[in-house]
Amino acid sequence: MNKRAQVAILRCPDYDVGRVEAVVERGFELLGGSKRFFGEGESILLKPNMLSAKKPDIAVTTHPDFLKGVARAFKKFAGEVSVGDSPGGAVSGTDRVWSETGIGAACDSEKIYKVVFEKTGSVPLPSQNPRNKRIKTIDIAKAVLDGAALVSLPKMKTHTLMLFTGAVKNLYGCVPGLRKAHYHFMAVHPDDFGELLADIMLLTKPRFAVADAIVSMEGEGPSAGISRHTGLIIMGSDLVAVDAVMAAIMGFDPLSDPTLRASARLGLGVADTRAIEIVGDGNLSDFVIPDFKKPSNWKVRMVPRFLGPLAKKIFWAKPSIDLAVCTRCRICYNTCPAKAIFAQQDRIVVNKSLCIECMCCHELCPDKAISIEYSWLADALTSRSSERRKK
Ligand code: SF4
Ligand code: SF4
Repeated sequence: MNKRAQVAILRCPDYDVGRVEAVVERGFELLGGSKRFFGEGESILLKPNMLSAKKPDIAVTTHPDFLKGVARAFKKFAGEVSVGDSPGGAVSGTDRVWSETGIGAACDSEKIYKVVFEKTGSVPLPSQNPRNKRIKTIDIAKAVLDGAALVSLPKMKTHTLMLFTGAVKNLYGCVPGLRKAHYHFMAVHPDDFGELLADIMLLTKPRFAVADAIVSMEGEGPSAGISRHTGLIIMGSDLVAVDAVMAAIMGFDPLSDPTLRASARLGLGVADTRAIEIVGDGNLSDFVIPDFKKPSNWKVRMVPRFLGPLAKKIFWAKPSIDLAVCTRCRICYNTCPAKAIFAQQDRIVVNKSLCIECMCCHELCPDKAISIEYSWLADALTSRSSERRKK
C-alpha cells in the first residue's frame, strides 16, 4: 500500500517551553522542513483547544506552555503569529477562558496577537459537503478566512459524543459563539456531526496540526475525564492522519470514526493508519496505550443508526445533574441547544424527554456536576456494569 500521508510522533516528557520548541523543530525536519508547508514570512493563525475556563493542569485545554513552545518554533520561519478561538461556553463571556487557561498570559508573554473570534465577526459560507444535509450555511469566524495559515493545536482527549477529539474536531471553535450550540442541535447524531466537522474543515482549509499529547485526557472527556501523562507531540500537514494516529494510540478504530470517515471520503486526508508513514521516535504500535480509558458511554455510541427511534427508547445515555456539586452557574442552561435544561426555583433540572444527547452540558459544566445516566439496557451493555459487579 502506498503511504500517502506522513505523521511525526515525538516523545516530549513535559511542558518545558524550550523542549517543546526543540521537539516541534525536530518534527519539521523529519517531515521535510517547514518550507514544505509554509512560505517564508507567512502569517500563521494558531488555533488551540480553549474549550472552557479550566486551569491547564487538568488537561481540558491545550497547555499554554505547549502553545509558547509551538509559537517559538513557528516564529523561526513565520511572519506574524496569532492565536484565536471561540470557546464552547462563550455565552458567559470569553475573558475568563483566556485567563483561566493561561492562553491569554502565554500570548502576552510571547507577544502573540490574541484573536477573539466572537469579536472579529463571521462570514456565512455555503456548505461544501453534500452529505451535510442539515446545515446549508455555516458561519465561520472572519479571522480564520483572512489569509493566515490555520494551524490546529488540539489536545488529545476522549469525547462523550464523538468518542475522541483531535485536530479536526478542534476546528469547531472556528464557528463563533452560540452558532456552535445551534449546529449541534441540527446535527446531533455523531454521523451528522462528523459530516459537519468535515464541512468545516473544507471551508477553513487548515494547513497543519501540532497535537498536545504530553498530558492527555482519558475517560469522560472532553472536560470531565482524568488527565493522563502520555508524553507525546504528534504533528503533520494531514489533520485526518494526525487524528487517525491519535485515535489508534487511544485504542479507537480510526476507520469507524464518523469525522475521519467523512473527511477521508471528501479527500481531506488519510484515515487508514496502514497508509500513513510514521516518522519520529518509533512505529505507531510502540505508542498504543491499551488501557487508555474510553468514555463510559462508548458502547452506546456504537448502536447502528438504522435501529433509530426504537433503540432511542431503550438504549440511551443522558446527563444527570448532581445538585450538591452544581454551583447554579447556568452555563448548561444557557447553552443547551434543545432547551432541555430548566431552572426551577434554585435547582437546575434536565428534562430527559427533550434531551437530544449532544453532551454539550457535560462538556461545558465547569464543576463536573453532570454525570451520564444510562437506560437499563445501555447500562447492562457498557463496561460500567461489569466494573460495578466486580466491586
Ligand atoms: S441536556 Fe445536555 S445533553 Fe441534553 S440536549 Fe441539553 S446540552 Fe445536550
Ligand atoms: S450543572 Fe454545571 S453548568 Fe449547569 S448550572 Fe450546575 S455547575 Fe453550572
